[in-house]
Amino acid sequence: MEQASIKSRLERIRGRIEKSATSCGRDPEDVKLVAVSKTIPAESIQEAIEAGADIFGENYIQEAREKIAVFPSHDVSWHFIGHLQSNKAKYAVKLFDLIHSVDSLKLARELNKQAEKIGKIQQVLIQVNISMETTKSGVAGKDAISLVRDISQLEYLSVQGLMTMPPYYNEPEKTRPYFSELKDLSVSIANMKISNIFMNELSMGMTGDFEAAIEEGATLVRVGTAIFGERY
Ligand SMILES: *Cc1c(COP(=O)(O)O)cnc(C)c1O
Repeated sequence: MEQASIKSRLERIRGRIEKSATSCGRDPEDVKLVAVSKTIPAESIQEAIEAGADIFGENYIQEAREKIAVFPSHDVSWHFIGHLQSNKAKYAVKLFDLIHSVDSLKLARELNKQAEKIGKIQQVLIQVNISMETTKSGVAGKDAISLVRDISQLEYLSVQGLMTMPPYYNEPEKTRPYFSELKDLSVSIANMKISNIFMNELSMGMTGDFEAAIEEGATLVRVGTAIFGERY
């Protein structure tokens, strides 16, 4: 059986994003698609760019450095969505417009230091571990507010919102409560009006559950498999 092209897959996903946004009274323009390109070769990324994808999400610094170098002049934005070690912070601030996975003050301080060195205000999201699974990264929900307060003191970081990765996937009705909890947390933080902290973005939802995430308020959905096919 012939594989659907990246272009037609992207079109289908955009249609689904539009439909779920509209169905809950949201403007589809408020939901951005992050094409998750980890392990995907540059040629496929090129194909996605030609089909209009303009934000790519990468998980591994070394892999991302090599791939991003292939696209110097393209008008695309690169987001880091994987677990980030402090010793890779200096690469992350050079490569990425938005880092979705800040989950400790130690990492935030290192990013702040490296951003200062290159004179950049680094946009970040706070990754929250709503489910409290020990295996996943992310700050515990109960500690998120104090982390945000501490990070608000760091001049070269700008917090744009929250990100989460629920313990399930491909089961939208099981992940939905985690999405709505993240939304509630972002509203609480926004209401605190902490200087230097913005709650504009909610990064949640992947191939198996992005429609539920949109219904619960996602502004960034991170979709890999539905665009590029199964990863090997
Ligand atoms: C791999 C990955 C995704 C994409 O997952 P798919 O199920 O392929 O859409 C989204 N977010 C993060 C953090 C990932 O690591």
